[in-house]
Amino acid sequence: MDMAASDDIGERLHAHARALFPICRSITGAGLRETLAYIARHIPLAVTEVPSGTPVLDWTVPPEWTPRAATIRRLSGEAVVDFADHSLHLLQYSHAVDRVVPRGELDQHLHSLPDQPDLIPYRTAYYAQSWGFCLPHRTRLAMTDPEYRVMIDADVAPGSLSYGECVIPGSEAGEILLSVHSCHPSLANDNLSGIAVAIEFAKLWAAQPHRLGLRIVFLPGTIGAITWLARNRERLPHVAHGLVLTCLGDAGPPTYKRSRRGDAAIDRAAAHALGELGHADRVQAFVPYGYDERQYCSPGFNLPVGCLMRSPNGSFPEYHTSADALDFIRPDALAGSLALLERVLAIAEADRPWRNTQPFGEPQLGRRGLYAKIGGAGDTGSGAAAFDPVTMLWVLNQSDGGMSLLKIAERAGKPFDAVEAAAAALAEAGLLVPADQPG
Ligand code: ZN
Repeated sequence: MDMAASDDIGERLHAHARALFPICRSITGAGLRETLAYIARHIPLAVTEVPSGTPVLDWTVPPEWTPRAATIRRLSGEAVVDFADHSLHLLQYSHAVDRVVPRGELDQHLHSLPDQPDLIPYRTAYYAQSWGFCLPHRTRLAMTDPEYRVMIDADVAPGSLSYGECVIPGSEAGEILLSVHSCHPSLANDNLSGIAVAIEFAKLWAAQPHRLGLRIVFLPGTIGAITWLARNRERLPHVAHGLVLTCLGDAGPPTYKRSRRGDAAIDRAAAHALGELGHADRVQAFVPYGYDERQYCSPGFNLPVGCLMRSPNGSFPEYHTSADALDFIRPDALAGSLALLERVLAIAEADRPWRNTQPFGEPQLGRRGLYAKIGGAGDTGSGAAAFDPVTMLWVLNQSDGGMSLLKIAERAGKPFDAVEAAAAALAEAGLLVPADQPG
C-alpha cells in the first residue's frame, strides 16, 4: 500500500473490513474474540466475558460454539462443500456429525436460495439443536449421489459470551452510546462496515475534548445487547444519545431509523444532518424489528437510540448472502458514512439549551460589537459559520433555558451551524450562559 492510499480514510475503513472478513464470527466463540482483539489493536477496548448459563433479562447466555472443520464429501472422497472455503457454508451452531447420510435426509439439512442460485445464504440455528450446510442452489441441484459423507467437527459447550466496550470520557456525565453487532461471519456490509466506521470514529472523537462521553459496544446481535443491558442498568440514565451502526458501506444513500421515542434529540440531530445532505426523505419511523435498537428501545428501557444505515437490512438482494462481500462495500461510501456520523454527533454535542442573561427587552447588540460578527466577519473563533441578525435574535429570544439550539434552528428555519455560531458569539459577549450554569 502506498502512502496516498494509506492516508485515505475510505481506504483505511475498507482495510478494516478486509482484515476481518475471513473470520468465522458467531454470537460466541473464537471468531468473535479474534474480532474484538483486532478492534483492541486500534482503539482502547475492555472485553467482558459472561459465562454460559448466566440469566440476562428474559434470556440465558448460550453455550459457546467452536466450529473447526466441516465438509460434505462424495463417498469417493471428493469435497462438495467445505467450510474452509467460506465461513457461510456451515449453519451457525451446528453440532458435531460424522456419518454417511442418505441424499434425501441430507436435503433437510441444506439451505440454498433458488432465486439466487450462485449465492450462499447466511443461516443460524443458535437455539435449536441442529446441524446444516448453506450452499449455492446450483451445487445442491448437482448433488445426485444416493449418499454423502457428512463431517462436522464442532462443539456446542459451556464457555462464555464476549463483548467489547470502548469508553472515551467526556467533561459531563452524559454519554453517546454506539452499538455495533459483531457476530456475523463473512458479511461485509452487514456488520463489518459498522465495525470499521466505529473504529475510525472512536479515534476522531478521542482526538478532541468533548462534553459528551462516548461508549461504543461491540457485541453479538440480540443476545449481546440484552446481556449488556442486563449488566449496565445503572449506566442507562447517562445515555444521552444512541445509535446502532450497520450497513454503512453500500452505494445507497444514508438512512436513519428513529428511536421509539421518535423525537429524541438524536432523532432530530440525525434528521437535521440528513436534511443537510438532501436526504430528508431517508428518515424512517421506528419499527420494533431490524437490529439491536429493538432491545435499547424496548418499552422498559425506551432509550434514545436510533439506527444509522445506508441501505436498510433486507432491502438489498445481497443481504445475508455471500454477495455481501468486500466488493459490495465501497471506500467512498464508508467514508461518507463516517462523515455523516461525525456530523450527527457534532450536532448532538452542540445541541444544548442556553439562557439569555438579559431577557428583559432586547439587549443592545451594537454596543457589544455583535453586529460586526454577523456573516462570520471578524470572528476569531474556529471557522464559525455565517449567521444573520435574525438568527441572533432568534437565539436570544428562545434561549430561556429550555430550548436547545437544534430546536431553535428548527423553529427559526435556520441552519444549525448558523444558530450555533450566533450562540457562540452571544456567549462570548456574556449574553448567553449554559442553561445549567448559575448567574
Ligand atoms: Zn444481519
